[in-house]
Amino acid sequence: MSGLQGIETKVLIVEDETAIVTMLRYNLEKEGFKVYYTGDGDEAVSLVKAHKPDVIVLDWMLPGMSGIDICAELRRQEETKAAPIIMLSARGEESDRIRGLDAGADDYMVKPFSPSELIARIRAVLRRLRPALSEKVLTFAGLKMDMVSHHITRDGKPVHLSPTEFSLLRYLMEHPGRVFTREQLLDAVWGHDIYVELRTVDVHIRRLRKGLDLGESLPELVRTVRSAGYALEEIPMGERQADTPD
Ligand code: CA
Repeated sequence: MSGLQGIETKVLIVEDETAIVTMLRYNLEKEGFKVYYTGDGDEAVSLVKAHKPDVIVLDWMLPGMSGIDICAELRRQEETKAAPIIMLSARGEESDRIRGLDAGADDYMVKPFSPSELIARIRAVLRRLRPALSEKVLTFAGLKMDMVSHHITRDGKPVHLSPTEFSLLRYLMEHPGRVFTREQLLDAVWGHDIYVELRTVDVHIRRLRKGLDLGESLPELVRTVRSAGYALEEIPMGERQADTPD
C-alpha cells in the first residue's frame, strides 16, 4: 500500500477507553485507513486542525471537553465545520441520539458495537459527503481510473503512471474542474509533514501530462491557471497553455 496521502483515508479517533482505541486502530489500519487518536477532549479540536481527518470518530464522555461540546466547536469554526463526525456513546436513548445529531454529528453509534459496523458507517459517511472517495472507478473525459487494480485507461488504451503521478491524477479526478495551488497539491498528495519544494509539483504535472498524452489527437486534460495553479479540464484542441502557473 502506498504511503501517499492522496490514497489514504485519515480517521481521527477521540476516545478515552484504551480497549476501544486498540480495537479500532487494529481494524481500521487493517482496512488501509491512516489512524490518529487522542483520549483527551481538550486536544481533539487542535488535532482536527493539524491532521484534517476525512472522518472523526468521537466519543461522547471524555476527560476535558465532552464529545458534544467538541462537535459543536468543530461545527462553529470555519476550518473544521465540514469534518464528518461519527459520535460514539453508551447512551442509546432516542433523546441522546437526537442530541448528538443536533450538536452536528453525521452519524451516531451506540456502544457496544462491532468494528465492522463502524467501518461500514465510516464508508457510508464518506460516500455521502465525498462521493468520489469511495468509488472504485473514477472517470473523466474518456479517462478511467480503477482504484482497485490501479489501471488507468484513456479511450480504452492503457496509461502508465508512476505512483506519485497516479496520486496526483486521482486527487484531480476527485475534484474535476477545481483549481488547486501547488501548495494544495503538495499537501494532498505528499502530506504536510514532508518537506517538498513547490517546483516538484510542476515536475510531476509535466510527467502526468506526458503520461496522458498517448500520441494521438486527444485534448489535453490538465489546465495551467496563470498565477493560481492547475485544474483537471478538457482543453479545447489547439488552445495553447503555459507549462507552469508563473
Ligand atoms: Ca468515554
